[in-house]
Amino acid sequence: MAKNKNDLMDKIVSWAKRRGFIFPSSEIYGGFSAVYDFGPYGVELENNIKKFWWKTMVQKRDDIVGLDSCIFMHPKIWEASGHVGGFSDPLVECKKCNSRLRVDHLLEDIGVMADEKMSEEVINEIFSKNKDKVKCPNCGSSNFSDVKKFNLLVKANLGNFTEDWTKDPTYLRGETCQGIYVNYKNVVDTTRVRIPFGIAQIGKAFRNEITARQFIFRTREFEQMEMQYFTHPDKEMEAYEKLREYRWQYYMDLGLKKENLRWLKHENLVFYAKEAYDIEYKYPFGFKELEGVHARGDYDLTQHTKFSGKDLSYNDPVTKEKYIPHIIESSVGVGRTALAVLCDAYTEEKVKDEERIVLKLNKELAPIKIAVFPLLKNKPQLVEKSFEIYSELKEDYMCEFDDNGNIGKRYRRQDEIGTPYCVTVDFETLEKDNSVTVRDRDTMEQERIKIEELKDYFQKKFK
Ligand code: ATP
Repeated sequence: MAKNKNDLMDKIVSWAKRRGFIFPSSEIYGGFSAVYDFGPYGVELENNIKKFWWKTMVQKRDDIVGLDSCIFMHPKIWEASGHVGGFSDPLVECKKCNSRLRVDHLLEDIGVMADEKMSEEVINEIFSKNKDKVKCPNCGSSNFSDVKKFNLLVKANLGNFTEDWTKDPTYLRGETCQGIYVNYKNVVDTTRVRIPFGIAQIGKAFRNEITARQFIFRTREFEQMEMQYFTHPDKEMEAYEKLREYRWQYYMDLGLKKENLRWLKHENLVFYAKEAYDIEYKYPFGFKELEGVHARGDYDLTQHTKFSGKDLSYNDPVTKEKYIPHIIESSVGVGRTALAVLCDAYTEEKVKDEERIVLKLNKELAPIKIAVFPLLKNKPQLVEKSFEIYSELKEDYMCEFDDNGNIGKRYRRQDEIGTPYCVTVDFETLEKDNSVTVRDRDTMEQERIKIEELKDYFQKKFK
């Protein structure tokens, strides 16, 4: 059983690979740091998380619409957003083993708070004061270089065919929300939205993270789910409180344990922010940011007005008032959500002296909803009947057919990937009652259900 936190993290990393959820990138070439691939079950989990988010943030809301903007955008956008000038992390190099390390993380480990928004000089000063207490996590040395700020934007040569393209690069987006800000006017002009309203988007983002660690918690390529909500300046904080409540409830509905979540208020706010909170999850390596819920004032649209020269103010059709909307946002990573969900659901338990691993996932997130088995593999009538049932059910649910190994092993395998229900066809099905056994993942209880009632049965179960 997982006894301590590192133990649990190691177990999840190896389980995720063994069970086809998450693979290290480019493994046959020796790996590629800070990037992970999602395997057959991992991609189902990811898609279900995204569906759940979209349903909560778009489908159920009258005041939020969706968007899919591109990864590449005009490079000036990243100047306007402050990313070209200021999106950087403080970095030091260990002089003994040459590891590159994030200063704010090293300081955090000894209980000293430093913020990535502080200037290079200020962080250098704080780091110098504490240098003797800080140890390189890789070799234990305290011999470090000076602190340097390192820009996190990933550069590209899209559409630039010159040799020295690095002088005039484009960027892979560092966050998805800029695509929302620059399309805000298009959305207002072409749809029926009126302030207050939100725009939601899911998409890839890229950051040259210095220390990419803790599995899929911090990667250089990741996916964000972001919602930017546009409000009247006087209504920003009222909307912000509502959004905080709504996002908290989302995690309750997602099925995360309440005791593993908490709010963290930002003490060092960026100059334009009104208020900022993170929702933190208790990962095996401690409470860390899962999502940011921030009140950003009019900063984003003011910056884009300045840099683009286009007026981005809003004309209220009823009051005739003209103003730059204030923005509140909710921003969360798909990978960080997946890791939280897996940590929360991964369970080792004893059943009649046997240990089982079971993924106690919210049914909506489960990669496979129903697995169908013949009791025995070498009985063609059982195989045929179970395949028939499987073929019907897969019209509505992600299903798996399995006739490998003994039935106990097949149940265990489905438990490990979080499949809520297993259906088994046995001799009684054929000879007696045209019923099958349905086994519940969590309780392991089994009940007999008539084949013709299976559809209704599952409809109720998955409602
Ligand atoms: P951190 O302080 O952990 O670097 P951040 O404050 O820079 O995160 P934001 O810019 O607010 O993060 O991004 C919003 C969300 O996107 C985060 O809450 C997180 O869920 C996700 N995210 C950000 N960076 C990464 C990353 N490198 N890998 C995976 N997810 C990320």
